[in-house]
Amino acid sequence: MAEPTVWSEPGPECVLCPPLRFRFNAMAGLPGETGVIARDAAFLLMPDVAPLAEGHVLLVTREHHQCAGAFGRAMWERAMSWRDRVARLYREAYGDGALLLFEHGPASAQGGGACIDHAHWHLLPGTHGVRAVVEQQGLPGAPAGHTALRAYFRTGRSYLLIEEDGVATVHPGDGVRSQFLRWAVTAGAGDETWRWQETFGLPGSRRRFLRTLRALRAAVGPEAEAVPRGGHVPESHQ
Ligand SMILES: [Zn+2]
Ligand SMILES: [Zn+2]
Repeated sequence: MAEPTVWSEPGPECVLCPPLRFRFNAMAGLPGETGVIARDAAFLLMPDVAPLAEGHVLLVTREHHQCAGAFGRAMWERAMSWRDRVARLYREAYGDGALLLFEHGPASAQGGGACIDHAHWHLLPGTHGVRAVVEQQGLPGAPAGHTALRAYFRTGRSYLLIEEDGVATVHPGDGVRSQFLRWAVTAGAGDETWRWQETFGLPGSRRRFLRTLRALRAAVGPEAEAVPRGGHVPESHQ
């Protein structure tokens, strides 16, 4: 999403904590609190304020975590079950559960990374060829999971997490420019606008946000009913 240009310290100035949590939405005339698609005690699911495609959402931690590599086991498992839930929402809303998931984290002294204190995953419906674009840029992938991301985090390195075609890979992220993965999504489509600041608040971007919100909100009820009794998830990840 919205990666503010300065590192936001925990506290009242943070644009993803109350009271400023939905300040960007307000600036663009978009719903804030009511623009949340679904939530639990740890995460919020909401449309990106400058969506790259219809269905582009963010899974954001409610509290401060630098990146998913900083999650403990329980948070990681909860994030993975959200990922599965988004796939079900996409299937319900768009007829196909295929998704792209990406994260650029954490911010490092060498630059790059998401400069906010709330770990967030970007999710988009469909397949966008992002891994191939990233590898063409000389950033080879390795199999990704909680352990691999933790290793990056613990050694102070930034990473790029990409899940596409049901396969998750992690790529070195140090020195990679801000919004690189947003660029990689558009590169596959021959589109030339990827910086969120370029589309944020414009009519096309607002329409996408509102269409995403409407479609996924409508999917929330039916998708929950599709989960068999006992809460067992049909296509549990890993
Ligand atoms: Zn982001
Ligand atoms: Zn915050």
